[in-house]
Amino acid sequence: MKLIPIIGLEVHAQLKTQTKMFCGCINVDDSAPPNTAICPICTGQPGTLPALNEHAIKIGIKTGLALNCRIPKQSSFDRKNYFYPDLPKGYQVSQFFFPIAKDGYLEVNVPGVEGPRARIRVSIERAHLEEDAAKNSHREGAVAVDFNRAGTPLLEIVTEPDLRSPQEAKAYLQELRAILRSIDASSADMEKGQMRCDANISLLEVDDENHPLQEGLNSKIEVKNLNSFRAVERALEHEIIRQTDLYQTNTKPKASTRGWDEDKGITFDQRSKETSADYRYFPEPDLPPQDLEMLSEIMATQKTELPEEKRNRLMEEYWFSKDVVDFLVSHDGWSDYAEQIMGELATWIEATDTSGKSGSELINEEKKRYAKLAGGWLTSKLVGILSEKTIDLKDARVTPENFAEFLRLLDDAKVNSANGQKLLTLMVETSADPSHLMEEHDLGQNMDESQLRAEIQRIIQQNPDKVAEFKAGKEIILKWFVGAVMKATEGKANPADAQKILSEELR
Ligand SMILES: [Zn+2]
Repeated sequence: MKLIPIIGLEVHAQLKTQTKMFCGCINVDDSAPPNTAICPICTGQPGTLPALNEHAIKIGIKTGLALNCRIPKQSSFDRKNYFYPDLPKGYQVSQFFFPIAKDGYLEVNVPGVEGPRARIRVSIERAHLEEDAAKNSHREGAVAVDFNRAGTPLLEIVTEPDLRSPQEAKAYLQELRAILRSIDASSADMEKGQMRCDANISLLEVDDENHPLQEGLNSKIEVKNLNSFRAVERALEHEIIRQTDLYQTNTKPKASTRGWDEDKGITFDQRSKETSADYRYFPEPDLPPQDLEMLSEIMATQKTELPEEKRNRLMEEYWFSKDVVDFLVSHDGWSDYAEQIMGELATWIEATDTSGKSGSELINEEKKRYAKLAGGWLTSKLVGILSEKTIDLKDARVTPENFAEFLRLLDDAKVNSANGQKLLTLMVETSADPSHLMEEHDLGQNMDESQLRAEIQRIIQQNPDKVAEFKAGKEIILKWFVGAVMKATEGKANPADAQKILSEELR
């Protein structure tokens, strides 16, 4: 029997608005003291009326457009009725019948996959606005409720069941997060609960060519409240194994809702799933429908650069590699930083170019060389130093000008890469400019040829056995000698010069 996973995702994104969805309370984060951002509206007092946050509507439209959705002429709100201590009104205001965005799609590259599913198209069924519930915390046998979160705006983004593996689900979520951040819709930090995911999954029996052996899909299992990319991936992997086992004992899994136990790495049964009929949805009588037509037409003309467009542009404009742009675009502030550095370098390259033609072959070659150098030193070395010191890029004091100058020192072989690493660490620590630091700490490759030759002759004399090996034809020994020279000179020698003199002296 061959089974393939059929996966769909529902994502709740907390919107970056100043105030809550239906009242003037500040939209605070979890660090605020409990019940300090509340009012009669968001605590559901009798006789209060909701007032719609227009910024939330704008974010809803903007996200819909970024996800290639159709924005209907009108949307409206409905009441979703259920009882829970964190829901003071006894219903949640959501958009059931007329959501703000429909029928979109997102194209996603799946890392590490080749063939037709290396790039997938995920259909977006709908995106709708709703208010968040409050937060329960269980303590000393009682339940305490913090209403700060009650009424904060959410956008729920629902896919069709188009995903076929946990890796695809993760890739989709990462791209969605990048989009939400790029258009400033949400901070979308899963660990902070600003983006939460419910995953539904069923298995489908197929033949050898992956054609389904039945019509329609099987009942889906919904895994609730996954709050990291890793949790989504692991929970789905676990469900695939669990459901496959059930099929092998001839039991088809029944529709149900499950939770995720992070420590045990398993999903567990929560409660039988309500259908939409159980919620008794009906239109919210206190809010008029929203006219979206004019707003969406205006917003369609003010498009922000989306992550995919930015990645393509950075590759085209600066010749950064794919891995480098993937990193730059998915980490806050890095792409702007890299662009500023490349801007500095481009100005310098064009000013010192003697061919006199901007865009000449020579200039482009030079820019490509610098892009490679910058990409490597940004995404491996600088990232490493910052994470070791737990500093965010925005708090690091290495200006783009200084970083560009640092790259020029490397490119001109004024400093080698081992000392470059030391120099960059000093730049992060002191915010001073690299040329000064290089001199102050004597990190430059400033040995003259006679000094270097004397040092090399000394090393050759001390290692007759290595010389013998080299003369017996073991070319690799030359590398060993270069290493020994670099060590003896504490990085002040230029490795290329060292290699040249070594070849002469060893003949
Ligand atoms: Zn309020």
